[in-house]
Amino acid sequence: MKGKINDTGILEQRTYPGLRSLAELPYFELNDSGLLKLTVDELDGGIDGHVHFAFNALAGPKPDLLMPHPETKYCMDVNNPISLVNYMGQNLTEQDMSYTLENWLSMLTPAGSALTNTHTIPNLIAEMDRMHIAKAVVLPIAYGFPYGDDMSEWYLDAIEKSGKADRFIICGSVKPTLPDAVEKTKALKLKGVKGIKMHPLLAWFTPNDKRAWAFYEECSLLGLPVLSHSGLNQLAMTEVESPTGFTGQQPNIDYFVEPVSDFPNLRFVFCHSGALQNEKAIEIAKHHKNVWMDIQGQSVGNIRNMIRELGPERLMFGSDWPIFPIAPLLARLLIATENDKTIRKMIFSENAARFWGLT
Ligand SMILES: [Zn+2]
Repeated sequence: MKGKINDTGILEQRTYPGLRSLAELPYFELNDSGLLKLTVDELDGGIDGHVHFAFNALAGPKPDLLMPHPETKYCMDVNNPISLVNYMGQNLTEQDMSYTLENWLSMLTPAGSALTNTHTIPNLIAEMDRMHIAKAVVLPIAYGFPYGDDMSEWYLDAIEKSGKADRFIICGSVKPTLPDAVEKTKALKLKGVKGIKMHPLLAWFTPNDKRAWAFYEECSLLGLPVLSHSGLNQLAMTEVESPTGFTGQQPNIDYFVEPVSDFPNLRFVFCHSGALQNEKAIEIAKHHKNVWMDIQGQSVGNIRNMIRELGPERLMFGSDWPIFPIAPLLARLLIATENDKTIRKMIFSENAARFWGLT
């Protein structure tokens, strides 16, 4: 660590000129291939509570999830400046957003996407190893398309074939407002999933839609926690501005109050800790002990605030790989917990181990 910046105030406020420059932090160094690796010795056995593989669906081809690629193409350009004091999604430039959108559309058509082709099991495992992450919670996404919407089965199958199932906690995904949501949830449980991911933004529904109640009931009966994209992010706009009907308002944190109140025995994970609505998310979690949070995207200051306001027990680390590399998200947690290594371990691994019944 000699020669590295060790004042957390400076570490936090700096804008890092690209992913590799995070090696200036006392937590990382570059390996022989120029890739970041974690150097915090006492930190091991991490659990990344929020990862995906290729999001291909509908008419898109299925990339080979067992294929290693020399480089992972994230949605964020690795040469972008990286700030740790904003919501992570705000580090995406306009170019990143149009590149991502273009790729998102191509992965739903036969053209496929050069980006998502690299979002494979070996690429994630290589990065997990460099970041001392023992296990990752895999979150497929059900969009609610009439066909080609089988990401859960595709991921399950690939993980089994990879021989690396011990590195993953596998969730399934359903669109909870569809008539077959309960049936699908039961089928996924039989296939061994440990939780259900729902995505109000991409599947275009609101969590307080009463058609989802049977799904929540079933998850509660089956003991499957519900992990949901939560809170407005940088894509949210007012309805007036959206002639297509896409407003980005579907995951508004206010829409979670009813389900978390009506199903007190069902554990919900607010992925991204409410994104740009973090303060409201904290308030909801304060009043509802069945709410847990993955801290993905939150700034160093917000992570500190959550620890202070809510306590660390229900906070869990998450990166949202491969939208982002793991390191800038981990850097936020490490700086926020620089003065409390006990809390650092709780959020990096112990809370998730408890949540998933691993201990
Ligand atoms: Zn995600």
